[in-house]
This record gives sequence, C-alpha cells and structure tokens, in this order.
Amino acid sequence: MDKDKIEDRFAKFYDAYYKVKTEELFKNYPGERSLTADLEALASFEPYLASELTQNPDDIIPIATASLSKLSKGLKIIEPIHARFIGKNSNIPIQDIGTQLQDKLLTIDSIVARKFEMIPIPIYIKAKCAFCGTDAELKREDTGEQPACPRCKRKSLKIDVKASKFINRQRLSIKSPVQDKSDPYTYHLDVWLEDDLVDKVKSKDRVEFTGIIRIEYNPKEERYGFALHVIGLKNLQPEIDRKAALEHNMAKVFELVRASQYQFLEGVPEERIVAESERFGTAKAATLECIEDHKKNGSLVSPEPGLLATPEYAEIIRRNKELEKDTNSIKNIITKLTETDSGAKITDVLDQAEKQGISRDKTTRVINTLERMGDIYSPKPGILKIVRREEEPTA
Ligand SMILES: [Zn+2]
Repeated sequence: MDKDKIEDRFAKFYDAYYKVKTEELFKNYPGERSLTADLEALASFEPYLASELTQNPDDIIPIATASLSKLSKGLKIIEPIHARFIGKNSNIPIQDIGTQLQDKLLTIDSIVARKFEMIPIPIYIKAKCAFCGTDAELKREDTGEQPACPRCKRKSLKIDVKASKFINRQRLSIKSPVQDKSDPYTYHLDVWLEDDLVDKVKSKDRVEFTGIIRIEYNPKEERYGFALHVIGLKNLQPEIDRKAALEHNMAKVFELVRASQYQFLEGVPEERIVAESERFGTAKAATLECIEDHKKNGSLVSPEPGLLATPEYAEIIRRNKELEKDTNSIKNIITKLTETDSGAKITDVLDQAEKQGISRDKTTRVINTLERMGDIYSPKPGILKIVRREEEPTA
C-alpha cells in the first residue's frame, strides 16, 4: 500500500471508529491535541494497517498524524497534533527487551517506579551555526540526538530559544508489575513521555505504555541503553483504586452492621451506617451503593425496610418476633379463659393455642416462661391466671 492509500485508510478508520472523538478533539484544540485509538480496533478495521504500524511505526505514525490533521478541515495547527495508539499488553518482560525490538511498537504493562522532572525539548529549531554562521531551521527528529549544522555538519548550532518551539518531555523508570520469585533482581526500563502525555501518571501507578523501543546513548554511563518512546498510555490505576476503595467500603459497612446489630432488636438503621461511614470519610452515595451490593449478594439482609442485619442475626430477629407474637396469643387465650371462669385450664390453653398453629410443646415452654417472669400464676394445679398489675390497664 502506498502512502496516500494508507492515509486514506486512516481517515476512513477515524471516521468509522472515532468520529465523535475526532470532532471533540478539534473542538477542544489546542487544549486537547491527541486522538488515542485502540490497536485492536485498528486490527479489526484493517489488519494490514495494524501490523504495519507495529512493525514500522516510524513510517506509519506520521501518515496517521497527517490523516488526522487533514480531518481538522482548515483548523490552524499551532500545536502538534498526535495520532496516539494504545493496545493489548505484548507480554514481553522488561528484561527480555533486546535489539530485535529496535524501532518496533509494543505495549508494556508496568508499574511506574520513578518519575523525573519535566524538561523542555525543541520540536522546531531556529539556530545559527557558531562555526560557519549559517542560519538553520530544523524539525527535531525523534532520535533525541543534537542536530547538526546543515552546511558544515558540525554540532555547533546555537539555538535561538525564543524563536524555537518547545514541548514538555519527561522521563520515567518503569518496572514489571509482578516480581519473578526465582529472580530477585528488579529490571527497569526508561520511558519518555512528551507533550500532553506528561504528568498523566504518578509514581506507583499501574500503566500500560504503548511506544517504540529506541536504542539511545547514555553519555553519563558511556553506553547504549533501551528506552520506550511512548505514543499512548492507559493508566489502569484509577480503576484499580476505585475497586480497592469499593472493597474497603464494603468491608467497612459489613463490619459496622455486624458490630452494632446486637444493640438493635429489629436490625441496624441504614441511616446509622451512613452516618458512621461519613465519620470515616465515605460519602453517603458510596455507602448506599455498598449497602445495595451487600443486599444483592446476600451478605446483609433487610429484616424491615431501612434496617440491616447479617443473615444470622436476621434469623434471630425473626424467631424473637415469632416468639413474641405466640406469647401474646397465649396470654390473650389465658386472659379470655380467665374472664369466663375462675381460671384457665392448661388443657384448654393448649387446645386453643394449637388451633392457632402453636405447637403444644411451644405453648408449654411459653407458659413456663410467663410463670417465671411473673406474668401468670397457678392458683391450683392445672389452672392458670393472669397477674394483674396496678400500672397496667386491665384487658
Ligand atoms: Zn555550520
């Protein structure tokens, strides 16, 4: 495929997959300067383009950028526009990055080990050669090497800082997110971020970096090394943090309910959990979300609307309520039988309670409890009477 055809295919790709995003980009330009496309989306649109991009990123990315810039339809380009890409983790461990990957595109899952300060780097250079006096106007190459005088080829250009154009550049050191247990050494890779990618990550963030592997000379160490020149990144940390916070809040809500529920006969009021969580800095909406999730997965139940309990305690609440109801029924039976006679025969109480669905065993147990509590007494064997209390209205 020739250059024009590739450019045309990219235009169609952006139109098919990123129409809205492209429109937003040019609406917010130059505040926004990048369009980040997914390599998998590109592969499903045109496998050839995705494979070319991975194998020859230095040829393909400028074409994608040109294609994207043309879509701006007459927008005055004062800041660089970036065709960025993110993709699936290549699963290549940092220690396996070697010369076979030079100038190839790949995605590395990593943790940011260290972040260095931003530095300005010229992308358009206006300079005068200190040796031969030639005026030079240069575009910077991605190799990072110092440009030479176009006439005498000496690296003696004196850059006119005010007339040149600079963008931010930042170096990171990344490491693998998992430590190989059989290998105690932690391998690091230098990573370069530029322009709007600068300061998009923090130390310790989990990030997928998509970029081009470069071989660079390190003058301090007097040797060459590998570095990843990033063309797109996906910071996984916010989502990881969000999940961790949710898990933490879920555990906290459960613990609050479990620890305080025995103070409540019918369950812990949800407002109390919300208020307690707020004291620990959790917003009301987040706590309510946790409560809903707990109810959905059954780790907490609602004995009554607005009340919470663990399933075990909810069962105790249910049994207590049933016992209370049965006790009231039995007390009513005894009261009624006492009104019509000198006392209630135990056998009559057992019969009538049984008709209401209370087993004879249970009735016997309730009678024993009521006697022990002093609510009823037995004037003679087989007969029961209600104890009338002064402060209680008579039934
Ligand atoms: Zn010169």
